[in-house]
Amino acid sequence: MPNSLYILVLISLFITLPSSSQSGNSDNSLHPEKPNLIVIMTDDLGYEDVGFNGCQDIPTPNIDRIAKNGVKFTNGYTSYAVCGPSRAGFITGRYGQRFGFERNPQYKTDDPVMGLPQNEKTIAEHLKTVGYTSGIIGKWHLGAHKSNHPLNRGFDEFFGHLGGGHTYFPQNLVIKDSYFTGEEVMIPSENDPSKSYKGSAEMASYRTWIMRNHDPVKTTKYLTDEFSEEAVRFIERNKKEPFFLFLSYNAPHNPLQATQEYLDRFSHIENDKRKTYAAMVSAVDDGVGKVLDKLEALNLDKNTIVVFLSDNGGPESKNASNNGVLREGKGSIYEGGFRVPFAIQWKGQLKEGTYDYPVSSLDILGTIAPLAGVAMNNEKPLDGVNLIPYLNESKKGAPHQNIFIRKFDSKVYSVRDGALKLIVKKKTNVKELYNLNNDISEKSNIARENQNEVERLSAILNAWETELIDPLFLGLIHTKSWQKKRERKNK
Ligand code: CA
Repeated sequence: MPNSLYILVLISLFITLPSSSQSGNSDNSLHPEKPNLIVIMTDDLGYEDVGFNGCQDIPTPNIDRIAKNGVKFTNGYTSYAVCGPSRAGFITGRYGQRFGFERNPQYKTDDPVMGLPQNEKTIAEHLKTVGYTSGIIGKWHLGAHKSNHPLNRGFDEFFGHLGGGHTYFPQNLVIKDSYFTGEEVMIPSENDPSKSYKGSAEMASYRTWIMRNHDPVKTTKYLTDEFSEEAVRFIERNKKEPFFLFLSYNAPHNPLQATQEYLDRFSHIENDKRKTYAAMVSAVDDGVGKVLDKLEALNLDKNTIVVFLSDNGGPESKNASNNGVLREGKGSIYEGGFRVPFAIQWKGQLKEGTYDYPVSSLDILGTIAPLAGVAMNNEKPLDGVNLIPYLNESKKGAPHQNIFIRKFDSKVYSVRDGALKLIVKKKTNVKELYNLNNDISEKSNIARENQNEVERLSAILNAWETELIDPLFLGLIHTKSWQKKRERKNK
């Protein structure tokens, strides 16, 4: 390098460095080069159980703030209709059916295959490459083997539980070690710790202590409050650098449990089940409020994308959730199974309002990756896309030509294409076609009179299926205790 050029480079470095670091400190809002991301995921929340989707009996003023500050999605989907596979889709930005995660995993701490495959990358693993600090608070449910512990999957902090439907009161969390093994486990009695009873591994997993990173900790509060308060502390700890927080509430999943403080808000609800459910949702709403308040107090609200959604539709008969006009609920291939309450805020960056084209939980990684400058692996393309240009109308049209779902065990498939939705039930050889624009409740099967469309959509579905593999592990439904439960039900 000639001397004069060398000096020029030095001078320009000298001039630009101080000014760029200054703008980084004081004016993140104008240059959100690496926005923070907070994903607040609820568990089994019904489509119509938030104010922004018209809920009447459960006020959710804080969750509604997200929709009011940003965009509410009327056609927001997850990639599956139950917890584990839906989360596997969100966390990789790819349909779990592509990599064999198509069942709720069993709680097996000694089985490395029972969970997210190691050759898939999580959103936290992607964001780590560009300097983000990532934390997950709450439910994991992507594998209980140590190799799949959040800290081994790109997260820097974990405060939560490895399995599914955790119990909420601290006195019920009686198993210290989350890494117990075996299909049946002795569970200490809650009323008399000198006694214990035999339970399935799954049942035991609901009663473990909460883990902070790798260590069990004795919590003292109602679990939803524990998670909300930890979320606020996470933001405070990481306020100076780009962060990703996955606030993964297990509420309002069963068991239906709430404290008197929250129950007292719902004297107007007579049905006990709905009352408790409402109290649980209200606790989440308080937590969302604390998170949003903290962002505002730290002046981070303009440089933080906040997404709110549920991992699947409400199981209405189980937790008294309400999917409104949508047909069926959790587990179903109909809209109630995987069209969920879904909203996003990014203050000052989004055209506020309602967005009606179909979007997917897979789009969360699709959106943050380019904003954060993540270099993607072309061999494993994301199914999600960057929504920001669509929301700001610099890109026209639908972000997705199609929304897919496959349920391997029941052999049902579906593709949405514009207003049309085809459902194929392979066991009974039935094909159903619905026009969601004028038949949101999927009441009127128009397959017979639209055979051309049925064939066209069948071809799209078949082409997608050639890209998928069979599930890599057995699911909860294959455990002995689950099958016993089913036998009892059928008697
Ligand atoms: Ca769920």
